[in-house]
Amino acid sequence: MKKIYFESRQQAAVFHNPLKEGRLDTQNIEVRLDPLTGQQSTFNGGLEEKVSILFPETDYAYLEERARATEGTCFMCDGRWRTTTPTYSTDLFPEGRLQRGETVLFPNLFPLASFHAVIMLGNDHFRLMNELDANLLEDALSIAIESFEQCHRHDASLRFFTINANFLLPAGASLIHPHLQLLGSPFPGTHHQTLLERSLAHYQKHHSCYWLDLLEEEQSREERMIARMDDSAWFTAYAPTGANEVNALWPRTSHFLEWKEREIRQMAEGISRVLKGYHHMKFSTFNFSCFSGPVDQWSPEFRCFLRLVNRQNIMAHHRTDDYYFQKLLKNEIIIQRPEKLASKLRPFF
Ligand SMILES: [Zn+2]
Repeated sequence: MKKIYFESRQQAAVFHNPLKEGRLDTQNIEVRLDPLTGQQSTFNGGLEEKVSILFPETDYAYLEERARATEGTCFMCDGRWRTTTPTYSTDLFPEGRLQRGETVLFPNLFPLASFHAVIMLGNDHFRLMNELDANLLEDALSIAIESFEQCHRHDASLRFFTINANFLLPAGASLIHPHLQLLGSPFPGTHHQTLLERSLAHYQKHHSCYWLDLLEEEQSREERMIARMDDSAWFTAYAPTGANEVNALWPRTSHFLEWKEREIRQMAEGISRVLKGYHHMKFSTFNFSCFSGPVDQWSPEFRCFLRLVNRQNIMAHHRTDDYYFQKLLKNEIIIQRPEKLASKLRPFF
């Protein structure tokens, strides 16, 4: 029995098109279904040439102006984080915060989970995506994993962790200063739970791990593979959940507490390379979430997994990219074919 199925449904929309002198126009629409979740992602080839309507270009002058205007009041800048940010109890972290290089971890003032930490990514208030280098990310991810170890040791009920990022305002960040967000909870969030449940269902049905089956399939097809490193694999999503989605998979680890320096280094390295590629395509914002299985057991059905997507490019009066189609109907629009995106990103690895 085939284990991974890349389902695609075709439709046609027919109408008299004023852009084509009122002639009857037929536009072909492809709806792709994610092989694990069934999530639908829709592609209309006609949109590829009209991306600027859905996804206007970055206004770098505006970005620079916003960065300069917010620097003076930023609570992270000029070492202000030392007095402005909260601290954890010393039995969790002896210093109250964790620090490595230019990165600092402290509690979010308005937490959304028992453990909700922020990591400041360096002293610079403003960086473009291509300036988030692997060493900086490696420092941040090292303290992220260290914090998960400490949290779980301190309270064994905290089993579900994610590493997340909102980069710049259209991606939901409330400040320009680059940072990561960590969540730790006794139960997984909605999408995290879906991933875990569907992975288990696949394991029970096929007696194999969905994520390894997916990797084998993507490697044999090649068209969406970006790079294979020793301990991680990077590829574009067949049915993306956001613009220009890139996925990464750690085939040997089911949860974050199994991560050693190599896994951390490869996440840092991979993200920084994808961001250089995005920047080259003049994209300026992103979100990512990296998922782990429960940290108190080896889960044969799950592997650590990352989703990285672009959001609307930064510009004055930017329009949201999350409207009824995404927010309520839970579909996504494919603005560029995942196979084409993979070919554009390969040179950065
Ligand atoms: Zn700042």
